[in-house]
Amino acid sequence: MKDKHKHYEDLIETEYSTLSLENIESIIHNKNIFESFEKEYGERLYSEILLALTHERYETDEAKLLWDKISSHLDTLTKKLDRNPGIVVATLDYLSNIDNSLLSPVLIQEDKSDFISETTTRDELTQLYLKSVFNFALQKELEKSFRTKHNLSLLMIDIDDFKKVNDTFGHLVGDEVLKAIGKLINNNIRSMDIAARYGGEELAIIVPESKPEEAVFLAERIRKKISEIKFSGFSVKVSIGVCHSSLDIKTADDIVNGADKALYEAKQTGKNRVVVFKGKQ
Ligand code: GH3
Ligand code: MG
Ligand code: MG
Repeated sequence: MKDKHKHYEDLIETEYSTLSLENIESIIHNKNIFESFEKEYGERLYSEILLALTHERYETDEAKLLWDKISSHLDTLTKKLDRNPGIVVATLDYLSNIDNSLLSPVLIQEDKSDFISETTTRDELTQLYLKSVFNFALQKELEKSFRTKHNLSLLMIDIDDFKKVNDTFGHLVGDEVLKAIGKLINNNIRSMDIAARYGGEELAIIVPESKPEEAVFLAERIRKKISEIKFSGFSVKVSIGVCHSSLDIKTADDIVNGADKALYEAKQTGKNRVVVFKGKQ
């Protein structure tokens, strides 16, 4: 059993870059940080950056070339939009709208990057995508999963007894909890996953192109890591409902309802756990 578990862990670790998006943003903005990463990673740095951004492994030379182009595209977009749209948007826009030859099936379609670069996309507190982006992306990713026959999973996350945190420590501390959880999620997903603030203290992650067990492993990992965050004098737990795409899932509402039902079951059966939706709609 232990070996089996390790196997999934390996799968996830090889698929996911060791660099977070936050690392990459700081590499762009700070020369010293760039140099320290270069020292640590050597030649592999560019491949690791591209892996985090595109979920594709590129050879060093190709990765370096692409990275130069994407960084300069980020400058162009920043000037055009008069604000920094972030490296993810620059990558998506570059690979899907400018260099079509490199369009990879795991990238989100070009209409999403248009959508993202022209609207406010992230919730200010959690830095997770807004519900409007979530709805749009879920629709697109579901259509893609029908076409490619790849599994798509949806994780619905709800903080356990969050009202108590607000009542005991105050609303501002509650806000800090949401902020820390948002950051942890952003640092623990692949660039192709879409994490959003679905409602007040309800968060959602779209996990495309993964095996069901990998999505469950991700859910367990996030649940555990959240419970390990140390706030001043307390910690929080979350319940997670997971729904995988299947023949019964025909619409975005179906997969949201499935994940919601699993989340409800997780709450009913003791909280601080991951439940996978098994029934029909
Ligand atoms: P359960 O384990 O069943 O999920 O219990 P709960 O207390 O987490 O659930 P409930 O729905 O009763 O309460 C959710 C709380 O989340 C109430 C609301 O004030 C709080 N909340 C929602 N959005 C925010 C926010 O942006 N900041 C803060 N501090 N609290 C929020
Ligand atoms: Mg709730
Ligand atoms: Mg709650």
